[in-house]
Amino acid sequence: MEKKVSLYLVPTPIGNRGDITLRALDTLKKVDTLLAEDTRTSGLLMKHYEINKSLQSFHIFNEHQVLEKLITRMKEGETFALISDAGTPGISDPGFLLVRECLKAGLFIECLPGPTALIPALVNSGFATDRFVFEGFLPHKKGKQTLLKKLAEEDRTIIVYESPHRLLKTLEQMIEYFGNDRRVSVSRELTKLHEETFTGSLEDVINHFKKKEVKGEIVLVIDGKRA
Ligand code: SAM
Repeated sequence: MEKKVSLYLVPTPIGNRGDITLRALDTLKKVDTLLAEDTRTSGLLMKHYEINKSLQSFHIFNEHQVLEKLITRMKEGETFALISDAGTPGISDPGFLLVRECLKAGLFIECLPGPTALIPALVNSGFATDRFVFEGFLPHKKGKQTLLKKLAEEDRTIIVYESPHRLLKTLEQMIEYFGNDRRVSVSRELTKLHEETFTGSLEDVINHFKKKEVKGEIVLVIDGKRA
C-alpha cells in the first residue's frame, strides 16, 4: 500500500521565481492546506504560480501553540505543505519541531529537494565541497567569540548565514582567530539581479565590502584550516 504523507516540506525560490521544481508545484496544488511562515509573502508567491490554497500561518512565534492541533488534523487525514519565506523549510527557518512531532506521532513526512542558499554559496566559493559544516546564523553577542575561536580550528569548509549589517563586524572579529590570510567567500543576493560572489583573503574581502554599504542577503563561506 502506498504510504500517505501528512506533511511535505516544500522548498521555494531564494530570489529567482524560476527556481521551483515541477514536483514542488504539483505538491503545493495537491495538499489540503499550506503552512506558511508569512502568509502575505507566500500568498503573493502562490498567486504567481496560480495556486489557490488556504494558507495558515506557522512561524517561530506560534509553532509551539499550533503543534498539537496540527498533529490531530493530520491524524484525521488532512495533508499539509510547509513553506518558508524562501529556501528550504527547517534550514534556519521553522520546520524541525513540526517534523519531530510528526515522526513521534508515526506520521509520514517528505522533504522535497530544492532551493537553499547554503549550497550555491558553497559551490561558488571554490573551497572543498566534500566535507563542510553549516553553522546557520552566528550568535549576535554571547558566545560569538568562543564559537569563532572554535571554528578557526575547523578543517572542513564552514558556511554561515549573516546579515548585511553585521558582515563587516563579523569579518573583522574573525581576523583575531583566523588570521588575515584565511580565505573566505561572500555570496550576496544569490539568484537575484545583483548576485555577487567575492572570494579572497579575509583582508581582501573586508577591503572590498568596506567600499560601499553592504546590502542584500548574505552567505559567508570560510575555507577550512590547512595543516
Ligand atoms: N531557509 C533558507 C534556506 O534554505 O537557505 C534560509 C532562511 S534564513 C531565515 C535567511 C538567510 O538565508 C539570509 O539571511 C541569508 O543569510 C540566506 N539567504 C537566503 N536567500 C539568500 C540569497 N538569495 N542570497 C544569499 N543568501 C541568502
